[in-house]
Amino acid sequence: MFYWVATAAAKKWAGVLLTLYAFATDWLTGWHGLNFVMRGLLDEPAHLATALVLLGALIRVRETQPDQCFGWMMLACSVLIDIDHLPAEFGFKLLTNGTPRPYTHALWVVIALTAAWAIGRFFSVGSGRPQPTKFELILAGAAWGISAHFIRDIATAPMSFWWPITDIAVEAPYWSYIVALGVIILIGPGWRLACLDDALWDERNYDANKSETRPDSDQMSAR
Ligand SMILES: [Zn+2]
Repeated sequence: MFYWVATAAAKKWAGVLLTLYAFATDWLTGWHGLNFVMRGLLDEPAHLATALVLLGALIRVRETQPDQCFGWMMLACSVLIDIDHLPAEFGFKLLTNGTPRPYTHALWVVIALTAAWAIGRFFSVGSGRPQPTKFELILAGAAWGISAHFIRDIATAPMSFWWPITDIAVEAPYWSYIVALGVIILIGPGWRLACLDDALWDERNYDANKSETRPDSDQMSAR
């Protein structure tokens, strides 16, 4: 199942269709004026579409599929982060006092998840275990999924992105979301970044692919 989803998401035309779906949701429905349930029904699939576009780019860059634990976690968290809106809907302002969106809709969540993942990776490598643990894959998937969520959120309504440093509401122009998804769709194998750590991916797949598709890099490292 995940293999099928990931293979489809990695196609650039699929990225274009998913992006058009998200834009159509915003332009045609005016979901901001609707009640909580209707907003969720329209907005969350567009969040999932945004995460699939980002996952597709990660797969193209890596030229292989991620561990499905990472992939499912990324897709799930791109939607589930919005659970933090529920207390306010029931009248409890414990997560939203003075901010346009909950405190957990802020950069610190991504930083905390990434830091926790890095600590886990540090101890894994230190104990001589190159394979990522389930714990690391879950943390990394959550960090990427929530990042995908924020790419859309920050361009569709204000959020206190820098909380707790400041409550100030941050909103990017909608065109920045269009540009961001356009650039993400253009991302291909040549865009490989060192920060996309091998540890997020299934090492067995990666090693198998590497010897077939990256003979140059192997020779380079042997020199
Ligand atoms: Zn949100």
